[in-house]
Amino acid sequence: MRIAAFEVRDDEREAFAAEAERVGVDVDLHAEPLTTGNAHLADGCEGVSTLGQSHLDAALLEALAQRDVKVVATRTIGYNHIDLDAARRLGIVALNADYAPNGVAEYTVMFILLVLRNYKPALWRGQVYDFSLQGLQGRELRNLTVGVMGTGRIGATVIECLTGFGCRILAYDPHPKPEVAAHAEYVDLDTLYANSDVITLHMPLLDSTYHIINRESIARMKDGVVLVNCARGELMDLDALIDNIEAEKIGGLGLDTVETEGDLIHRDRRTDILTNRGIAYLRQFPNVVMTQHMAFYTDAAVHSMVSCSVDGIKSVLQTGGFRTRLV
Ligand code: NAD
Repeated sequence: MRIAAFEVRDDEREAFAAEAERVGVDVDLHAEPLTTGNAHLADGCEGVSTLGQSHLDAALLEALAQRDVKVVATRTIGYNHIDLDAARRLGIVALNADYAPNGVAEYTVMFILLVLRNYKPALWRGQVYDFSLQGLQGRELRNLTVGVMGTGRIGATVIECLTGFGCRILAYDPHPKPEVAAHAEYVDLDTLYANSDVITLHMPLLDSTYHIINRESIARMKDGVVLVNCARGELMDLDALIDNIEAEKIGGLGLDTVETEGDLIHRDRRTDILTNRGIAYLRQFPNVVMTQHMAFYTDAAVHSMVSCSVDGIKSVLQTGGFRTRLV
């Protein structure tokens, strides 16, 4: 049994080797994303493993089906880069990853604290020996209300982490969970927007959630609201964020993902001429903390992402099933 893995980072190679040996498969490792142009690299492979920059659209899935690829497994939790309808039509099984939610949840809490405590300008000042305090006064979570949108695995873990801070927690999810209701108050979106000092997003990117944070929803929020996004950039309208930071309606942003990040992230781009004005402009504000889509990036998660995809492909080929099967 042979698998072709794409977008493989150096830090994943050891995990791939260990997992391939453990489950008894051969794995070809490729650093580049999978495209229709290099789909021939999957020749002779029954499964492929990718990250989020391989756009598994209908054309690419067709190219894989022609090569007898039977399973595509993304090593990410998000699967918005896979055309699930096309996979279903072509008889290709799609899998995602289900590594522990704790890494992303902890990162989210870190972002909330970084923004509330003005960490970015404090760090800038310290670097140039400006040890003044003026303008850096923070806020304490115990006096604030945090709104959590999306209470699946990550959102629920964020809520669990936040209970220790003593803040009021509001939650919104079309599918509320009784175990979450023990720590947070489920409310409708209007109530969450109107009452939250901090709002954090933890839902998947779907047609129904695209730009859920837009000019109109921001207008319904409290003045000075802090928004955090460790889910998917396209959940937030980037232009609306910029305008509302400028207008000081938004008091701070913690963004691990941004709408136009595309293939900008996860590479050293220091000597490139970048043309992404939205991201360049947004990142200069003192109250905007941005990172390169790395909330997932922990030792435990990386190993689990690799093992879930290799194990998952093998299980599907042998038994037809796996716990993270999407179609
Ligand atoms: P999950 O499937 O366990 O939970 C998603 C929750 O969102 C579900 O409870 C669902 O009912 C809810 N939901 C759906 N539509 C909604 C809406 N309109 N409003 C509010 N809630 C809605 O997923 P998860 O494991 O918690 O992951 C959430 C997202 O986080 C993923 O889809 C992925 O895109 C993102 N993610 C980002 C990183 C990163 O490194 N930044 C890492 C992992 C996951």
